[in-house]
Amino acid sequence: MNESKKLWAVYQAERKLRGLQSRLTAAERFLAEQERQLVSLDQQHGSLASQLRQIEATAKESEDEVARIDARIEKLREEMNVARTNKEYQAFLVEINALKIERGRAEEEAIGLLEKADAIKSEIERSTENKTERTRVRDVAKQERNTRNDEIKDRVKELQAERDRLASEVEPRILADLERLLEDRDEDAMAGVEVIDKRRHEINCASCMMSLPIELLSQLLRGNLTNCSNCGCFLHLDEETAAILQPAGSKR
Ligand SMILES: [Zn+2]
Repeated sequence: MNESKKLWAVYQAERKLRGLQSRLTAAERFLAEQERQLVSLDQQHGSLASQLRQIEATAKESEDEVARIDARIEKLREEMNVARTNKEYQAFLVEINALKIERGRAEEEAIGLLEKADAIKSEIERSTENKTERTRVRDVAKQERNTRNDEIKDRVKELQAERDRLASEVEPRILADLERLLEDRDEDAMAGVEVIDKRRHEINCASCMMSLPIELLSQLLRGNLTNCSNCGCFLHLDEETAAILQPAGSKR
């Protein structure tokens, strides 16, 4: 078997493997996406919880301030009730009134913060629901991935062994080229040759559909490993096409 045919066999085994694994690959991608979204929801949830803690702590400070002012007013009222002069009484009254204004401000602040805290609590509730739903989808995705994997794992093992056996017969440098092409171009790593019109030399690469030069065709006919001069894929000449392209005199 010439190098071109050996490489074609590796390529065919690789295609079978990829085809078999495509549903597994899709299931793995979907699972990874769900995991990614869960991480992001977790971060969001954590950030909301820490916002809530901060706001509740500040609200508590404002409430404590209100309580402190109340105690102070209470004490001043007691002192005011036993005031000896009108001047003393008026002084207590002024102080109490000033404290009442301060109390109003602190209370307003506490109410505002508690309203904010309530809004964040509903956000946290929604975020918890989202997490629960996403976790459910992730678990289904995991199950799906495992099912796909179980379905094909034995066959994949067989195919991998076959691919490895075939690959061991190909020169490592050429194999590396094929692997690179598979990475970049997937199924278009190798392509056949399409004879559109032999007499007018319209013979194309089946991948990029560009016409192939005559020198390149004669290389192929000699069984030499050849890349498309346009797209760079490895070319493969099957028996049937080779027979068509064989110069008239040399037909077997
Ligand atoms: Zn091409």
